[in-house]
Amino acid sequence: MADQQRPGEAAGTGVIDDDELALEVPDRGSADELLDAGAHAPLDLMRHSAAHVMAEAVLGLFPGARLGIGPAVADGFYYDFELPRPLTPDDLAAVEERMRASIAADHPFVRRELPFDEARALVAAEDQSFKVEILDDLAAKAAAAGEDVPVTTFYEHGSFHDLCRGPHVASTGRIGPFRLLSVAGAYWRGQESRPMLQRIYGTVWESQEELDRFLWRREEAKKRDHRKLGRELDLFSFHDVSPGSAFWHPKGWTLYRTLENAMRELQARRGYQEIYTPPLVSKKLWEQSGHWDLYREHMFVIEAEDETFSLKPMNCPESTFIYRTRVRSYRDLPLRLSEYGKLHRNELSGTLSGLTRVRHFVTDDAHIYVRPDQIGSEIEALLEEVREAYSWVGLTPKLTFGTRPDKALGDLALWEKAEELIRGALDASGVDYRIKEKDGAFYAPKIDIQVEDALGREWQTATIQVDLVMLPERFDLWYIDDQGQQQRPVAIHRAIYGSLERFIGVITEHFGGAFPLWLAPVQVALIPIADRHGDPADELAGLLRARGLRVEVDRTDSRMQNKIRLAQEQKVPVMVILGDREVEARTASVRRRDGSQEQGVAWDDLAARLADEAASRAV
Ligand SMILES: [Zn+2]
Ligand SMILES: [Zn+2]
Repeated sequence: MADQQRPGEAAGTGVIDDDELALEVPDRGSADELLDAGAHAPLDLMRHSAAHVMAEAVLGLFPGARLGIGPAVADGFYYDFELPRPLTPDDLAAVEERMRASIAADHPFVRRELPFDEARALVAAEDQSFKVEILDDLAAKAAAAGEDVPVTTFYEHGSFHDLCRGPHVASTGRIGPFRLLSVAGAYWRGQESRPMLQRIYGTVWESQEELDRFLWRREEAKKRDHRKLGRELDLFSFHDVSPGSAFWHPKGWTLYRTLENAMRELQARRGYQEIYTPPLVSKKLWEQSGHWDLYREHMFVIEAEDETFSLKPMNCPESTFIYRTRVRSYRDLPLRLSEYGKLHRNELSGTLSGLTRVRHFVTDDAHIYVRPDQIGSEIEALLEEVREAYSWVGLTPKLTFGTRPDKALGDLALWEKAEELIRGALDASGVDYRIKEKDGAFYAPKIDIQVEDALGREWQTATIQVDLVMLPERFDLWYIDDQGQQQRPVAIHRAIYGSLERFIGVITEHFGGAFPLWLAPVQVALIPIADRHGDPADELAGLLRARGLRVEVDRTDSRMQNKIRLAQEQKVPVMVILGDREVEARTASVRRRDGSQEQGVAWDDLAARLADEAASRAV
């Protein structure tokens, strides 16, 4: 999480993974996290190695520069520097020049171990205060755990060395075609109270062709940046008074509710019941669920009348209170409780970014209580829900099945049974999936859902977890079986869009703001050519609205061409133009966003066709 997620970055440091609490995540901004370059895949090795070479080049140009950290990230690498002045584009060209020389020299990367004290003395003598801080943190952490201070490792190439765990490529000559991309301000450790460093982003690939393709994709992604489109299309805005929480404008909120309602309609068909539980809950609940120990630093905590509350960071435990208000029989299951829960997570202010890294968001959550024998059929039905929902936005979900981790809670036989049933459901559904061994949550095997957008970027959106322990045991849930005995249900946690905020960020970029008819905030722009066509336009608008269509009538006195241009800029899918001939015959001239045109369409016919198209949720 040290890397600030840029728009369009598909890094999986996402917003809503419920299983985040299941992992031993390094403290955010901690030395452990900062030191781990995350360089494990072959391309990542090359990327992180390029970061070393970039640091060498920057130090060559600015002796005395202080180094922050330099990890591989999605599509490239960065390094943070404290420099005497802001970098210019010319500086980046000079850095690239020096990097090319270092790569041509083919310096080997040499690993060197140093005892802790020598390492600290070395970086202190070099006045690398951020590196000193990293080492001091490591030492403090070791002391707190009662362990020895770890031996430190440096990697050298040419005249440059860096405190680093590695690994790297064998030599600088192994680094492929690269490009430096941009400079951005980044707070040391993502905290606003710490120094602002200059972060240089770069990218490196194995071939020139891959580099070229990436650069094209990046240009395209800039045009589609959801924050830019959010402004241009009047969808949402962000304001300092509530960092990391979107202010939804009428058009954006229409989009939001349209997505919510589509899911509501699907859920109604599938027998879900929607609930709503409070966002402000006592810490007692989180102590019972285990989140207070594992997840407290991510929560907003509030004191009132000597009691400690928090804004909920996830919905999971609260549905159990509704479950337990009645004795449940085996006939009541599956019990499918859905909820659009308003969630808050305390992300560091310096890391917030658009809709993809927020503090406040809503998930299309559901908790489904089933008997163990119902797991397979329920998962199969859920996979069909996923497939259907993603077809509404023209995306094909890819699934990853995470199996039992080493440190798992719950009965081994039940785990094995659940995994077998999930595997069976995945196979039966015919969808593409891969298996990630031991990647399940500690209480649940899970299926993660990723999508690849129009630019080939992968996004983690949603998840299905088959919870054998956390809700059923910690909250002592049971049902009465057909023998009159108490049995534990299994709780399936599932979100299909995931965070609505993140999902809207992803699809806004995927469509470049040109939403399909069913989703478009304004579906039809009605364009009267002259003032005298205004009243008939309002009449037609009434007909279309009666069919549930979202219509705007442009009754300004600008010329027709301007009205058309405006509707095109706003990416309205259908423009309907009314002049004398059309008004006379009660027909319309119809222009689609894709350029196709139709003349003389009868009003009733138009209303019926557009309503059908919107109802079909065609992309
Ligand atoms: Zn390194
Ligand atoms: Zn849950």
